[in-house]
Amino acid sequence: MDITSIVRKNIRELKPYSCARNEFKGEASVYLDANENPMNAPYNRYPDPLQGELKAKIAKIKSVRASQIMLGVGSDEPIDLLIRIFCEPRADNIVAIDPTYGMYQVCADINDVAYRKVLLNEDFSLDADLVLAATDAHTKLIFLCSPNNPTGNSLDREEIRKIISGFKGIVIVDEAYIDFSLEPSWLTELDTYLNLVVLQTFSKAWGLASVRCGMAFASEEVIGYLNNVKYPYNLNLLTQEFVSEQLDHESRKSEWVKMLLEQRTFLQEQLETISWIEKIYPSDANFLLVKVPDANLIYNQLVDKGIIVRNRNKISLCLGCLRITVGTEVENVTFINELKQL
Ligand SMILES: *Cc1c(COP(=O)(O)O)cnc(C)c1O
Repeated sequence: MDITSIVRKNIRELKPYSCARNEFKGEASVYLDANENPMNAPYNRYPDPLQGELKAKIAKIKSVRASQIMLGVGSDEPIDLLIRIFCEPRADNIVAIDPTYGMYQVCADINDVAYRKVLLNEDFSLDADLVLAATDAHTKLIFLCSPNNPTGNSLDREEIRKIISGFKGIVIVDEAYIDFSLEPSWLTELDTYLNLVVLQTFSKAWGLASVRCGMAFASEEVIGYLNNVKYPYNLNLLTQEFVSEQLDHESRKSEWVKMLLEQRTFLQEQLETISWIEKIYPSDANFLLVKVPDANLIYNQLVDKGIIVRNRNKISLCLGCLRITVGTEVENVTFINELKQL
């Protein structure tokens, strides 16, 4: 698989910006190279553009090489960058499952790249042949999301494998919810498939949505292009330090996940006792997709009670569906009690 041949010409030939922190790496006693204010306030210095310390910790936890990691301002940043690296506006196209996370299409639209949706099966399962059949010589990226948002299910591993091995472009597997799933991550396959990009994030299980830090894992070659195209100092030092500190408390994340999975079961069991609920879809994520008789009405009734869920009524295959994030025990009990009184 030749990655370079599918990179846009301007990106392939790009001479990336070389910042002061790139040109001199290491320890010195006097820094007069970056026009910084010398007064240590203490954030007067530019941060490490490639986040070496943070990546070393992530590499250890995820059992990958640091050189296989790109960190972004949320996983939304690598989603946008991958489109800009590989897709020629008004010429190339992207194929993605439908329904799925809305940002793929928004980023494609912003970049003026055609976005082809391939409907999942009625039970939200993936048909690799349909996805591959939607590609042509101008398809550069395929977006998959597993566990998928907003459907909550994991996509079949062998169907995903068929797509990665059968496609001569980049396949992105968005694993934002992988911590809540018993399915194995695709991170272990990075060395097998050089066209595989795995996205994960600190926004969900790690409880750091407001910090804005996402991870892209890929072959060194793809990571190199991501690094060339990103803003040099995309992750500020506050973020790098804070996320690094949080990584020392992985057990706390695991306890949160355990609690949330118990609460997901509680919500599921409670919802099953409500006779007018039409369907509760199985979930490998920290939310449940639920089919109700009148989603708009129930959504508004819950809003009036001060409870906000996500109305997914207008999304493909999700007619009549609400997406309910698993909250704390108190929040979930409040939600169920209000729902039972509607
Ligand atoms: C929440 C979510 C993300 C996270 O995005 P960030 O920019 O990292 O906060 C990514 N992908 C999917 C499918 C999501 O649901």
